[in-house]
Amino acid sequence: MKLRRFKILKENIRGQEVVLEDPAEIRHLAKALRLKPGNPVILFDGEGKEFQAQITGISSQRVLFNVINESVHETSESPTEIILGIGILKSTKLDWLIQKTTELGVHEIIPFYSLRVIPRREEIAGQTRLTRWQKIAAEAAKQCGRAKIPKIQPPCSFAEVLAAFPESTRIFLWEKEKSRTLQDALHSPGSKVFSLVGPEGGFSQAEAKQAEESGFVPVRLGPRILRAETAGLVIVSLLQFLCGGLR
Ligand code: SAH
Repeated sequence: MKLRRFKILKENIRGQEVVLEDPAEIRHLAKALRLKPGNPVILFDGEGKEFQAQITGISSQRVLFNVINESVHETSESPTEIILGIGILKSTKLDWLIQKTTELGVHEIIPFYSLRVIPRREEIAGQTRLTRWQKIAAEAAKQCGRAKIPKIQPPCSFAEVLAAFPESTRIFLWEKEKSRTLQDALHSPGSKVFSLVGPEGGFSQAEAKQAEESGFVPVRLGPRILRAETAGLVIVSLLQFLCGGLR
């Protein structure tokens, strides 16, 4: 039987004993899956640690586990950290992209505002949207067997995203780039690759220039114009492939 995975908080690990207090996770464990004391499970803290454990007690408020074995989970993480900067997209498209790229092993996602972003700032600002994105990433990580949950940053400005990860290999997807392909731009990708994908309306000419001046290399993804969410999924897949994360 496939062992069920539960996300726990790091601060709820006390030696061999771990307590789960999240009501949704408790309901899932006790009501939906009908797990009982004695059953084995996998616990993960979202930061790369995973534990084989056994349920020792269940109440409506908390579930107790006893850790049998601790392992630093490395196999589900890629050799290269892939960071995706994405222009904020309309309605649920970003939700979709966060879910899919989490499955593909993205390390971090930074949503940004740029000139042609369609949703208004008031719609996106505040904690609600960010919390939803983080929840989607956590659920996707749990479902696909990752011990690490990708970080979803609060939305930032274009200038801020251009200043992020200065030490990484940096590229931006630019449909007007005539010749440079992803392979051309990735001779030696290093340990971190940071790529930018524009929003539905794309980048303006001035933004493309600004990105290039900040050290981002423009890259084309073929002669067709992809939707932003397609471009985001494709770049993460291709980077994983080129950097060995799909082996
Ligand atoms: N400006 C365009 C397309 C925007 S597509 C328009 O409105 O018609 C959204 C984003 O996807 C772009 O900003 C770019 O980052 C990426 N993208 C889509 N197709 C691409 C391609 N063929 N090459 C490189 N990037 C592409």
